[in-house]
Amino acid sequence: MSGNGNGNAINEVSVDCPAKTNLTLHVGAPRSEWGGRHELDTIYCAVGVYDTVTASRKKPGAGFSLNLDGAYLGDLASSGSDMRRNHAVLALFAMAEASSHEPDVALNIEKRIPVGAGMAGGSADAAATILALNTLWNLDWPIERLQQVAATLGADMPFCLTGGYARGTGFGEQIEQLSKHSNDVRELTKQGFAGRLLVGAYQAELRTPEVYAMFDQIGAGAGDNNHLQQAAISLHPRSGQAIDEALLAGAKQAFISGSGPSVIAFVPTDDAARAVQSAWQQSRCVDRIIASKAPAHPIVHIIA
Ligand code: ATP
Repeated sequence: MSGNGNGNAINEVSVDCPAKTNLTLHVGAPRSEWGGRHELDTIYCAVGVYDTVTASRKKPGAGFSLNLDGAYLGDLASSGSDMRRNHAVLALFAMAEASSHEPDVALNIEKRIPVGAGMAGGSADAAATILALNTLWNLDWPIERLQQVAATLGADMPFCLTGGYARGTGFGEQIEQLSKHSNDVRELTKQGFAGRLLVGAYQAELRTPEVYAMFDQIGAGAGDNNHLQQAAISLHPRSGQAIDEALLAGAKQAFISGSGPSVIAFVPTDDAARAVQSAWQQSRCVDRIIASKAPAHPIVHIIA
């Protein structure tokens, strides 16, 4: 029987899980032994735009259910019948198998992270589910064990479990947590890659494999910290316009998040934030603006 340490069963847990971006993303050669995935060297940073996943215990034998909430569900809104492919549901099944539990759980996802946007929204939901079940089922597994389950689901999921900063190698799944005092993070912070930021988000989604295919054709732009930036911009030119406008308006750094199309603009002051926001609003080069900050971490709440 699960418990909360006081002998009472836990019936409902909710987890706020942040989005991610990549402060650097260096893409190497595709590796046949990884199914054609590219070798990566990246510095992940969690961004304080949170999806909330709530996991509630159901009666034994009742099976799982999934409910999606939020104004920006992207292509998820139409895939209700396809809920078994939702990353949160895949995570529920992976955890059920790893811990020999029945997946008798109701999942509710309040989505705020843009979908198909290079911000790992799906991975954040899977990570949130894993963290919620770790508490709901009273497993109390250490993060390393949870990361092993997460790694079976996707490259950026192990990072989403911890948030903060991490270096990712392999195809992004090998994580070394970085403190803000590490040399890499200090250097990036000095360059303005920390603190307050604006996300320029889009209705349109970019499929990660298409962005890599474009990268294979055109390569990285000179001097780009994110090697996928030119590929994403060539598939979604408004993102390039948003980067240019943000930098002109006073952003310290502006770049494509992961495989895009979202744009992150770090803004050092209130004035810079206002200037970037009004430039983006006037030119309509982004569809939605989300104010946030980085780094961020997942937060687990026991509800009942
Ligand atoms: P990647 O992690 O491949 O870089 P991304 O961060 O660009 O992806 P996501 O928001 O994770 O984008 O969505 C990628 C696709 O995953 C979506 O188009 C959607 O169909 C699918 N997906 C499945 N479950 C989820 C979920 N819970 N949230 C968002 N997308 C999901």
